[in-house]
Amino acid sequence: MADDNQAHTPKRIMGVFAHPDDPEFFCGGTFARWATEGAHITFVLATSGDKGSSDPEMTGTRLVEIREAEERNAATALGAREVVFLRYSDGELQPTLELRRDITRLIRLKKPDIVVTNDPTVFWFGTMSINHPDHRAIGAATLEAVYPTARDRLNFIELERDEKLEPHKVSQIYICGTQSPTTKVDVTAYLETKISALREHKSQIPDMEAMAERMRSNKDTEAPDDAPRYMEHFRVITFNR
Ligand SMILES: [Zn+2]
Repeated sequence: MADDNQAHTPKRIMGVFAHPDDPEFFCGGTFARWATEGAHITFVLATSGDKGSSDPEMTGTRLVEIREAEERNAATALGAREVVFLRYSDGELQPTLELRRDITRLIRLKKPDIVVTNDPTVFWFGTMSINHPDHRAIGAATLEAVYPTARDRLNFIELERDEKLEPHKVSQIYICGTQSPTTKVDVTAYLETKISALREHKSQIPDMEAMAERMRSNKDTEAPDDAPRYMEHFRVITFNR
């Protein structure tokens, strides 16, 4: 697997995810590293996590406020510059043309060099967990938005005609939550930043110390025990220009 000890630092990065806390959990160390290296990072969250509570007193509207505020704080902790919420319904995300258009609009507006999203092909991890369907949906819609619709002007022609949004070619896609990684990013120096960002998700993580311990115990198996390294894994697709 390739080590991604970036020869060049990308300038504009867009992470497109389903839920508040996904950018941090899936690859918060990589975002923190890129931010430190000077990248401009935007997060796009398709839902605001309005179903994720077992509190009988909690309403969806209140939960949206809480989770969006937590995500903004977490994004700031990682060094991301902005967060866009599309406010689709949590737990019901589908890779519709409407979602693809919304992501296409943002790609044309923000012009990222790199787009980061989930692997839409993953239904399960090992024998212990099923991937959330919203993660598959956002991955599918985002890949479809990068290619072909953000790139080719006749797709969603109204974006160019009515909103003056010209086609944009993304250079690379970093796909996280994948079973077939091609690249690992060394985030050892950013592990504590990732944990700090995750600590902002107070409504989602009941035991912060257990979360931190889990993160710290997830060491790279190739590194020696007395010099642990931490890696985040991606399938990277690089387009020929
Ligand atoms: Zn999620």
